Amino acid sequence: MTNAPFDDRDGLIWYDGEVVPWRDAKLHVLSHGLHYGGAVFEGERIYDGTVFKLREHSQRLIDSARMLDMEIPFSLEAIEDASKEILEANNISNGYLRPIAWRGSEQMAVSAQNTAIHLAFTCWQWPKYFFPKGGEDKGIALKSATWRRPDPQTCPVHAKAAGNYAIGTMAKHEAERAGFDDAFMLDYKGRVAESSGSNLFFIKDGAIKTPTAECFLNGITRQTVLQLARDMGISAEETTIMPDEIGQYEEIFVTGTAAEITPVGRIDDHTYEIGPLTKRLQEAYQDLTRQKPAAKTAASA
Ligand code: PMP
Repeated sequence: MTNAPFDDRDGLIWYDGEVVPWRDAKLHVLSHGLHYGGAVFEGERIYDGTVFKLREHSQRLIDSARMLDMEIPFSLEAIEDASKEILEANNISNGYLRPIAWRGSEQMAVSAQNTAIHLAFTCWQWPKYFFPKGGEDKGIALKSATWRRPDPQTCPVHAKAAGNYAIGTMAKHEAERAGFDDAFMLDYKGRVAESSGSNLFFIKDGAIKTPTAECFLNGITRQTVLQLARDMGISAEETTIMPDEIGQYEEIFVTGTAAEITPVGRIDDHTYEIGPLTKRLQEAYQDLTRQKPAAKTAASA
């Protein structure tokens, strides 16, 4: 692993259909995507040379773009082929894949009807997302954020849109400055939502609950873990969770492509054990991500 800035690394990047040297994958400063947030992206994990849930991520990229009134000029199959091509070209067998689509430089105003839609894929080695400050055995610490997830009619909350991340970045900075790993975010109605980049799960009396994904990203890992739990005979419910309930739960974890299943050891002044159900699900998720396509079960479908 290198600590070099992301624009100064060795490797190859798939850029609008061409594979180019990493340092040459540039865009102009007058790009609509940079000024007005016209960009959508994906975050995918590569396990043993295979992208986990490639179809779901590729489809979400297309859907996110459509939610922003952008049509990516490549088919689902072409997106999948480009993903495979770039991870082979970079010889990454365990790592992270980042597709991004953005509006080009044809217009420099709010309207973007005539901008070209660009597409790029990059990948790199990425072993772990969270390194909890308290250590692996304590889980991550979350801090209640002052920023909230917005009304679905205020912004495209179900799109993995670059613009939405301005909120997450501010919330995450607030948490990090106070010595926490990440933010504990509510939605605009005051209900428990998610962290800055992962979904939340709560466990009590052997049953799992997760907030209904009404105004935040319905994570692919979240959906996988719900199915995995149900396949294991564990009750798993999507429901409303209010912040004054969080003291009642025995185990809490977050899910995400990068986070996988990461236990939460603390939310503000509440502390939690890394309990048996979290550990069982972590093991089951690890098994699932390392399964080869032929051996897939319902959760991996
Ligand atoms: N919420 C946000 C804001 C995220 O950025 C992510 C990561 N993509 C998630 C949830 C989890 O989504 P997924 O499981 O699809 O990675």
